[in-house]
Amino acid sequence: MMLQFPIPYEDELLHSLLARFGIRSGNISKRAILMDIFGTDSFTACLELQPGISNIVSNLPVSSTISTNQLILHNSMYLFYTAFRDEEQAHAIYESMLDEHGRDLHNAIGLMSSAIKPHTHFQYCVLCNQLDMERHGEYYWRRIHQIPGVRICIKHGIWLSESSVLMRERTKYAFIAPTQDHCSDHSVQEIADKELLSQYSCIVNNIEKLLNFKYPHRPMDWFHKHYINQLMRKGYASNKGRTDYKRLRAEFVDFYGVELLEILQSSANGDSSWLKLIFQKHRKGFHPIRHLLVMQFLGLTLEEVFNSDPSEIDGHESKTSLPKREIMKKTMTEEYRRQAKRERREVWLQMRNDYPHHGRLELRKLNPKVYAWLYLYDREFLMDHMPEKLPPKAGTTRHDWEKRDLEVLEKVAEIAEQLMSEGGKPRRITLERIQEIIGSKCLMPKHLKKMPRTRTFLEQVVEDAEAFQKRRVLWAIGELKSNDESLTLNQIKIKAGVSNVKHIIEEFEFNSVY
Ligand SMILES: [Zn+2]
Repeated sequence: MMLQFPIPYEDELLHSLLARFGIRSGNISKRAILMDIFGTDSFTACLELQPGISNIVSNLPVSSTISTNQLILHNSMYLFYTAFRDEEQAHAIYESMLDEHGRDLHNAIGLMSSAIKPHTHFQYCVLCNQLDMERHGEYYWRRIHQIPGVRICIKHGIWLSESSVLMRERTKYAFIAPTQDHCSDHSVQEIADKELLSQYSCIVNNIEKLLNFKYPHRPMDWFHKHYINQLMRKGYASNKGRTDYKRLRAEFVDFYGVELLEILQSSANGDSSWLKLIFQKHRKGFHPIRHLLVMQFLGLTLEEVFNSDPSEIDGHESKTSLPKREIMKKTMTEEYRRQAKRERREVWLQMRNDYPHHGRLELRKLNPKVYAWLYLYDREFLMDHMPEKLPPKAGTTRHDWEKRDLEVLEKVAEIAEQLMSEGGKPRRITLERIQEIIGSKCLMPKHLKKMPRTRTFLEQVVEDAEAFQKRRVLWAIGELKSNDESLTLNQIKIKAGVSNVKHIIEEFEFNSVY
């Protein structure tokens, strides 16, 4: 029986929770701790998808409200690793996690053989750690920071640091919680390349969504159809499905930048690169990160892909969506090309003139078509007329603003944490509320312009109407559950004060079907 079992922190990895239990139990024998937790000292270690969850829950005190479902969905990486698997596979993994003799899930999900290698050591964010120490008096391992390829904290927009705790070998029979000694690097490592930060944050945001929401399971074929349809819409593939991989690859690499693709272990080099394979039929699974890379590049959101109607994607591409590029290519005579070049150069120079302070990414967003055209057919001109990569801003106040940005960010992050963890019925998190608590006018738009970290952070925490509705529905479900009330749509509706509850629940299937 585990009497001192701790309450999980937000996004805490099960490994961390069990480690904190080990410390509280006062037991120094690793085997005795395993006995307490699993009721047996034979166990299979899998940091991402720990088996033996049923044993853990059966060893909790009767009064504990922690369920197997909760541990699997909120404290393991189950939702992330099964997001792109079909119902049957996902269910089998879920069952294995419940079972004390669960399969070696490392192999089941191809973790070790995957092209995207897991971290060797646990990762942590210096600023998150600071906040945790202030709020809880201890550190813990967050799930999101241990996902392969994740090396930034999107909450704080800084690089993660590497702890001295190995994620595998040493953790085979022992659960290790982070300590000051393990996380001795306190330096805040900023991300200088803002384009990289922006693209990277979108990817990690989606990873976070996959970790936290239960999207409907779809077969691989489902994603394939979505991708091919979008390739056609965007003019990378003809309506017969012939794909211009050369252009696709060039624009893909340009979109993310070589550095980010390397960080995500997803450089798309060579003829048999994953970027080509993922668009081919009947391929086996790909790492979720690679799906996210493709989706973001093609302009598809998770909601669009997972929640679409089967008839929308079933090969009914209308003839009218025949890519204009294909037509243009055929009819592009020398003269036409010269004129097209002239026109596009003019547009580009005009944009440079109108927006002298815009960076590369911003200009590209402003007119993606012209950018893509020049990139393909007039690259030399484009490179000669690009803004400097990250021009260092001159002026004496830049340093002060950087310092101010960090200070304000810290305050804002603290306030946001407080607001998120407020008891009772949720109140919407708005810029005005945060501003009010801070008390000064430091969040005015003209100030925020100079504080990119605070601005990015605010964009993530401030809730629009939809996000707020979702949080209320989640809260209502939690309340009803903990009061043992029945979970009907009507009850949730009344409790949450949201009318379109059904739609929200369907979208996320908060309530696991298992
Ligand atoms: Zn952080």
